Amino acid sequence: MITLESYLAGSWRAGRGKAAILVNPATEAPLAETSSEGLDFGAACRHAREVGGPALRAMSYAERGALLLAMSTALHAHRDELLDLAVANGGNTRGDAKFDVDGATGTLAAYGAFGRELGEGNVRYDGEGVALGRSPKFWGEHLLASRTGVAVHINAFNFPAWGFAEKAACALLAGMPVISKPATSTALLTWRMMKILVDESALPGGAVQLVCGSAGDLLDHLGPQDVLAFTGSAETGFRLRSRESLLRASVPVNVEADSLNAAVLGPDAAPGGDTWRLFVKDVVREVTQKAGQKCTAARRVIVPQERIDDVQAELAAALAATVVGDPAHEGVRMGPVTTARQLADGREGIGLLMDEADVVCGGPDPVRDAVGAPGGKGYFIAPTLLRARDAATASVVHRHEVFGPVTTLLAYDGDAARAAELVARGEGSLVTSAYSDDRDWTEAFVRGAAPWNGRIYLGSDKVADVAFGSGAVLPQLVHGGPGRAGGGEELGGLRGLSLYEQRTALQGGRGIVQRLFSR
Ligand code: NAP
Repeated sequence: MITLESYLAGSWRAGRGKAAILVNPATEAPLAETSSEGLDFGAACRHAREVGGPALRAMSYAERGALLLAMSTALHAHRDELLDLAVANGGNTRGDAKFDVDGATGTLAAYGAFGRELGEGNVRYDGEGVALGRSPKFWGEHLLASRTGVAVHINAFNFPAWGFAEKAACALLAGMPVISKPATSTALLTWRMMKILVDESALPGGAVQLVCGSAGDLLDHLGPQDVLAFTGSAETGFRLRSRESLLRASVPVNVEADSLNAAVLGPDAAPGGDTWRLFVKDVVREVTQKAGQKCTAARRVIVPQERIDDVQAELAAALAATVVGDPAHEGVRMGPVTTARQLADGREGIGLLMDEADVVCGGPDPVRDAVGAPGGKGYFIAPTLLRARDAATASVVHRHEVFGPVTTLLAYDGDAARAAELVARGEGSLVTSAYSDDRDWTEAFVRGAAPWNGRIYLGSDKVADVAFGSGAVLPQLVHGGPGRAGGGEELGGLRGLSLYEQRTALQGGRGIVQRLFSR
């Protein structure tokens, strides 16, 4: 069995004590073990601040961009091996694995290109300068300079490649060194990525360190120039952001948490039309891709009352036909959820939804016919569609995220404002998708839904053959959402750098303020 060591202060280091075991969720066969007990996280933070930070800050944006491109290239050269690890440890189909691994290399490459565009400087100005008095000589600007601490990244289990890369890309381009901690259950892929980067000398010393296993006392070492970016459950996010030591030092904490995302069908979208077909295809993908274990997956499907039977019939037919099993087997379209705990939580969650919704297909019972899974083994949940008995009074569906291949149909009266109200009952989402070719309906819907969403995906006949689904998080657009989605914001092009920069207002003579740094 492989032992996953952490890469700290320039060396691979094994923890002591009882190791956590990583398994193949389709077969429950053990794959690797890891422990971080006894590792010196204080020394790792100092190494980042004293070695990694100065090296990165001495580099121009263009050089940091070249570093990100080199990381992307090094990882892409090992693509097949990385995909195999995602299949084995993540329960991913090959398509799911590409979504994660190619998402990682693509995001690194995108930020590499942003770095090239920023060019030779290593400090940025934010927006336009402004004359501060009656004379144009007294001038103000906002400077964006790298923070001088360490960026600690704590990631969720469902995107071990992309989660590592998307956070690292922003921090490194901003000039901050990273300590990254993947979720333990799926850390095999991140560990292998780090091995590749270290073996191929793709990283300056101290720029990126990796913690395999629990975070231990890592967060106790953070101070006022450091940053914490967390992705995971709302509960863990709440516990981390309310730590006294982080509050006292005003450590910026970005939280990407769980979310009751929605897909909404406009009343104009008729069965068989391009917009309708896009909607059905997207919802089926949202339920089955990565066995529904995506933070962006649509958990609520909001449909006009007069269309709900047609939608239900099409979704149920497609979901029931999805071949579930060990994704290493030919023909399997959906794998297991990632851990025994996820399986238990998912089945319990479906049970909670059943208090107010009827099961249309799937359900909480064990999957007995998973292809290629040894008898009774594997953490499989059937693709599950429920239908709320009364959308007006349903509440669990707006509160409880079942992190698996599960979604619930809710009827509405076709009014855009009413659909937006239902979306808002999730109290803050990462993404909502709306499918309509009616501009007035779409405008009214976006007006109502935008304050409750980090992103809105508009499906229409114009994009039916080019859009790639609401689940894909793109480096150019922000990712994050208000309220229960964590209130965070990542990516969004250069917006993603701001967590790692201090914005400082400069005021003085226009000549000196504007000439301080080359632009
Ligand atoms: P989780 O249990 O909250 O764990 C997330 C991460 O936090 C893991 O790396 C975990 O490490 C670590 N962690 C847990 N307790 C900690 C503590 N006291 N101190 C420091 N680190 C701690 O969440 P999960 O089960 O991995 O992820 C599933 C959830 O993440 C879902 O609800 C999903 O919606 C959400 N998610 C959100 C996004 C987004 O972008 N908004 C993306 C992906 C997933 P260990 O694994 O070692 O315990």
